[in-house]
Amino acid sequence: MATTDSALVVFSGGQDSTTCLAWALSRYARVETIGFDYGQRHVVELECRAGVLTRLREARPDWAEKLGPDTLLSMDVFRQLGETALTHDMAIAMTENGLPSTFVPGRNLVFLTLAGAQACRRGIKRLVTGVCETDFSGYPDCRDDTMKALQVALNLGMQTRLVIETPLMWRTKAETWELARDLGGQPFVDLILEHTHTCYQGERGNRHSWGYGCGSCPACELRAKGYVEYLACE
Ligand code: ZN
Repeated sequence: MATTDSALVVFSGGQDSTTCLAWALSRYARVETIGFDYGQRHVVELECRAGVLTRLREARPDWAEKLGPDTLLSMDVFRQLGETALTHDMAIAMTENGLPSTFVPGRNLVFLTLAGAQACRRGIKRLVTGVCETDFSGYPDCRDDTMKALQVALNLGMQTRLVIETPLMWRTKAETWELARDLGGQPFVDLILEHTHTCYQGERGNRHSWGYGCGSCPACELRAKGYVEYLACE
């Protein structure tokens, strides 16, 4: 098996990275996953992450065959760096520099650099990440230019030829639901609805048509809006 046929997916257990995982599994002969415990406000995200992997393996033996080891790295360092709405109990709002309070400066850069190091170590040439600038461009480290620059930096710094793949970059949330359906049909859409986690508040008490969540944080609003648009186009 050629190493070019393998991919490392940055996997959080959310809708986007779960769709990216299916995208990679439908393309590559071997797929591994990596995730980060960065002191998220709610451990529910990490619990969902393990659950999605288990259920994906059960539902799709063909994907299970390709799915290699998962790595979870402890990144408590972001908590030490300072407070954001993702790591501390504070309000989600826009800050004076025009970025949402959920923005953790440098987070994706660090995640992808560590994922790059892991890919290098494992002989994997493709990094897959669910970053997207279509629906919500509030995070500068999710932009296409940032990813392209980072790919150059990683390859120079590690003397390798990694490719950062961003299958969701130009898709709306509705189009991400469509992609999920195309990759795994209704059973995969149902798996995402039931088991992935998106809500910033870590809320899983209420089951809406689009899945679990508080229904009012920016992440829930985006997921709900995308799902309604997706259903309207069905
Ligand atoms: Zn929410």
